[in-house]
Amino acid sequence: MASLCRRAIFQVARRPLHMSACRSMEEKMADPLDHATGLEKAEMLAELAGNDDPFDTKVMKRGPGTKECPNLVGSFFKSRLVGCICEEDQLHINWMWLHKGKPRRCECGHWFKLVERTPVQV
Ligand SMILES: [Zn+2]
Repeated sequence: MASLCRRAIFQVARRPLHMSACRSMEEKMADPLDHATGLEKAEMLAELAGNDDPFDTKVMKRGPGTKECPNLVGSFFKSRLVGCICEEDQLHINWMWLHKGKPRRCECGHWFKLVERTPVQV
């Protein structure tokens, strides 16, 4: 019985090893741009065109923020939620809704105005 088991083990160990042929080094992974669709593709195309913030989501620095020269906030919609860090060492954000055509003043005195942006083409 023991010799039968030993024979089976050796037969398994002597099984031929099959390997596939190596692919040439010229084959590469497909370009992610070819596989992307929808908003992801629009974002990639905008980055290629030099726009690294196509959806206007980066933090912006406030300007003078007076009523005559408000901080302009772009939006693709009629309203947008805006957060103001009123003082540099402040630990919370003052959130407020901005609506098209209605400039709004934050508690800190800075004015914000919504400006229309053209949507990214998908
Ligand atoms: Zn503020």
